[in-house]
This record gives sequence, structure tokens and C-alpha cells, in this order.
Amino acid sequence: MKSKSILAGWLVDGSGEPARKNVLLTINSGVITHIENALPEKIHQPDLTDFSHCSLLPGLIDAHIHLFMSGTEDMDTRTRQLTLRFEDTLDGMEERLDDLVSCGVVGCRDGGDRHAYTMQYKRDHLDQNVFPLQLKVAGAAWHQHGRYGKMIGKSPGTSEKLSQSICRQTRGIDHIKIVNSGLNSLVRFGKETPPQFDVLELREAVTVGMRFGCKTMVHANGKKPVEIALKAGCHSIEHGFFMGEENLKRMADKQIFWVPTAVTMKAYRDAFELRIKNLRSQGHSEDPSMLRMHEMVQGASRNLEHQLEQIYRAKDLGVPIALGTDAGSIGVHHGRSLKEEIRLFITAGFSVPGAIQCATLNNARLLNLDGYGVIAEGAPATFIAVTGAPQDLPENLGSLTSLYIKGKEFHKNK
Ligand SMILES: [Zn+2]
Repeated sequence: MKSKSILAGWLVDGSGEPARKNVLLTINSGVITHIENALPEKIHQPDLTDFSHCSLLPGLIDAHIHLFMSGTEDMDTRTRQLTLRFEDTLDGMEERLDDLVSCGVVGCRDGGDRHAYTMQYKRDHLDQNVFPLQLKVAGAAWHQHGRYGKMIGKSPGTSEKLSQSICRQTRGIDHIKIVNSGLNSLVRFGKETPPQFDVLELREAVTVGMRFGCKTMVHANGKKPVEIALKAGCHSIEHGFFMGEENLKRMADKQIFWVPTAVTMKAYRDAFELRIKNLRSQGHSEDPSMLRMHEMVQGASRNLEHQLEQIYRAKDLGVPIALGTDAGSIGVHHGRSLKEEIRLFITAGFSVPGAIQCATLNNARLLNLDGYGVIAEGAPATFIAVTGAPQDLPENLGSLTSLYIKGKEFHKNK
């Protein structure tokens, strides 16, 4: 097969290293065989693809999505989405896959849905030629009976241990998702909910998962729920709001991934702000319900601020950080929320290449996506070209010029 040359204005290779300017990539049989400085005598080849006005980045990965729900703020639509039959979720799921691919996302890890529709979709419908995306699925997430998590999962049978229920239902899944706390309060700052499982139950669950080649992702907010998940040997902490310094140190120590999903709080804040604005424009008075919404805006802002401080501290301590959005939550839209989360990482103290590394190489490691997340000699040529220089990131992530999958340019509807 003939080799291809690609001229890149800038290269952000996913390793976290500073961007390189004017780089020439040679691709052979879908693999990058050579990366070199683009000397003037080399850039006049007839087969050259010119991305000199672009930055090249590895294809992006979102380490935490829910494909079965959209990010809509409309509560009626959200309620309806929860009760759809499988056949009726297909269009929505494909719309969201399309949004993801359009934003340069080539890999995703799903955090579960009650009826395991995303797993069923992956098994029976996902066409890589239409959506060139690696979708990793959890099936239904696991939560304690009577506790938070019903929307995205189920609880173990009454006479069964968590690990026994998991053991019976590993078919078709790529990882295990367990919920070990409640949600964050938008009213009471840092309010902790009790853990859902103890260390022993969780450890047995993680061990069973490993037997089936599955890592375990644990939804946990607050000190105790996170501590238990870490002691049980989980592979990643999802959200981790208010987990505290000791847990961050444990994660750095054991090199356990953290997926902060900070954008969820920004989305809450923005959604309530918009609601207030709309009510005001309709002549609504400042009644108690409006006051409560103001409280929510402030609560979400404070939670976001605290999470950004934790991200800054985690980076300093050497915690491996992966980047996920929780797309499907209120106001967290598939694809474009990834840009928002990258921006929040930069606000928290990451460099542009550092934040991109979290959304590419780190995520590829967490998701076991070999060859993904990096632009390097010997790696598959899977990358995106984005108009502009690295200093225009992440804003320019919306203006994708091109997506390459294993050396082939991807065109929609082909
Ligand atoms: Zn989630």
C-alpha cells in the first residue's frame, strides 16, 4: 500500500509534552511510520495532505457517558427518555453517537442504564462504518436496594451478594459500574451521603469483575464512600466530589484513576441560571421558588469551585486523572461537553497538552484501548485535525477539519 504524508501546523501528541510546530507524518497501512520536522524540501510531495493551518490531536475519548439519555434540560423529555422501549431509544442513541463523532470522539466508556440498552445497542446495532467509535459498556450499573442509582442500574437480588449478582450478568459488558454514594447536594455544601456497600462486598465484586477481564468504575462522592472504593481495589473513582486530601493521596499511591466530571456542576449552574432568566422574561416575580433556584446556582458554583481545587491538588500529588463528562446528565451534551471539561481542567491548572493528555492517552489506558490516545511512530493513525494553533484549544475543538481512523479519512454517511 502506498504511503501517505500529512503536514501538520502543530502536533499535540497526547503524551502531555508541549506541542510541536510544523511536523510531517508518514502513514503506511494505517500506521504512523515516521514523525519528523517538516523541512521545506519535504513538503512539496504530490501526495501530501496539507493541514498546515491545523493542530493534530489524537482522537478524543470520553471516559464517562450515558448513551441512553440526552443532555436535555427539559424535565418532561428526561422522564420520557427513562421509560422508552429499546426500539424507541435507537434514534436518540444514534443522534448522540453522531454528536460524539462530529466532535472528534473515537472512544467512550458508558456508565450504565437501567435496562442495559446501551449494551444491547452495541451488541446488535453499532456499525463501525457509520460511527467509527470504540464504545465500552457497563450494562446496568449496580446500586444498593433503596439507594440512589435506579435510573442507571439495578440492585442485587435479595438473597444474593453483590458479587454473585455481578457474576451472573457479565455477558456483553466491558467493565463493571457500581454506585457507592448518593448525589451531591446543591443546597448543603459538601454534605456527604453514606456508602452503599462495605469494603468486603466491594472487594468481592471487583475480584469477580477481574475474573471476567472487567475493570470496576465506582460512582463515589465524599470521604467514606471513596475510601471504601479505594480500599476495595476499584480501578477508577467517578465524580469524587469532596473526597478530600487523604483519598487523593491514596489514589496517587495506588495509581488509581480519577474521573472528576466537573462539567456536571457547571451544567447545573448554567441550567438554573437560564431557568431564572426565562422566568424573569415572562414577568415571574422573585417568589420562594425563584429564591431556591438562586440557591441552586450558588450551590453548583461552590461545588464546581471545590472540584477544581481538588483537580489542582490531584495533579500536584500525581493522581492519574482521566477525563469524562457524564454526558446524559442535565445540561451535559454528548460531544460538546468534552470541550467544556477540557476547559475546566485548564482552569484548574492543566496546560493545554496536559488536559488533552487526560482526554486521550490517560483515557485510552483506563479503557484498555490499545493504540489509541497517542500520535506516535508505530501507533495507528487515528487522529483529528482542528483548525488553528494549540493556544486556540479547547475553543476550536468545535471546528473539526478532519477525522482519521487507522489512516483513513472518515466521511460521514459513506
Ligand atoms: Zn454517570
